[in-house]
Amino acid sequence: MVEIKTAELVKKYNFKFSKGLGQNFLVDDSVPRDIVAGAEVDGNDLVIEIGPGVGTLTAQLLNKAKRVVAIELDSDLIPILQEEIGDNPKFSLIHNDALKVNFNEIIGDEKSVKLVANLPYYVTTPIIVKLLKEKYNFKSLTIMIQKEVAERMDAEPSSKDYGALSLLVQYYCDTKIIRKAPPQCFMPRPKVDSIVVKLDKLDKPRVSVDNEKLFFDVIRSSFNMRRKTLWNGVKSIGLPKEKLELAFEEANIDPKRRGETLTIEEFALLSDKINKYL
Ligand code: SAM
Repeated sequence: MVEIKTAELVKKYNFKFSKGLGQNFLVDDSVPRDIVAGAEVDGNDLVIEIGPGVGTLTAQLLNKAKRVVAIELDSDLIPILQEEIGDNPKFSLIHNDALKVNFNEIIGDEKSVKLVANLPYYVTTPIIVKLLKEKYNFKSLTIMIQKEVAERMDAEPSSKDYGALSLLVQYYCDTKIIRKAPPQCFMPRPKVDSIVVKLDKLDKPRVSVDNEKLFFDVIRSSFNMRRKTLWNGVKSIGLPKEKLELAFEEANIDPKRRGETLTIEEFALLSDKINKYL
């Protein structure tokens, strides 16, 4: 069993935390254990980890997975990871920005691929958008994120947290909360509470749409102006007024409603009707 003692390694290498890189390392042993158990990692899995830090979660993943590929941006962490876990044949390290990585080059023809990460909070949403929209062959994404972001992912129509991120995540995944992690689980301590959430990829998207790009454009435009009517948001799509009226009529959706009241099924229907007249 490999185990990494975060605080000891930080001291040993005199590692200086970079606030700009969202570095809050796990120091409570129960959290990485619960992440690995929640992700249901087993010996068939290729696990891709974003932001291994000093390897605290990575070491626990290596105990269970077939292989672990970790992507780390901070050049100061690369020699530490190489020294501590670099000789484990199941481990590979990529020194890069996760937002610039083509994950298909890592996945190759692996069938059982899981993403597991304690994500840097400053870049959580762009990473999730990339991982879902680029349609990688992940079975699941088990991620530690800020509590507020987890609540947005899980939100239902008409609630204050419901928005474009809720619809994106729910289009592709089922969400399951694994556990909470208060600030004292990390060093340095973040100012916010965190949650581990598991996103299980659906075999096919939750709703079927004729034009996926338009579906997400309609969603984005509906939430761009939160307190305005759906009509005011969606007119930016550029459809002539009469045609947009027909699309709303055929979808049986009142254009005076606000975007945040629409279910994912209603967004799918409205975007299909708009698509018909584009
Ligand atoms: N996994 C470690 C743990 O749980 O203790 C560290 C998690 S820490 C919240 C986030 C990690 O992501 C840091 O190691 C940071 O350097 C790294 N990171 C930040 N931005 C990144 C990016 N764009 N691509 C890859 N790694 C990044």
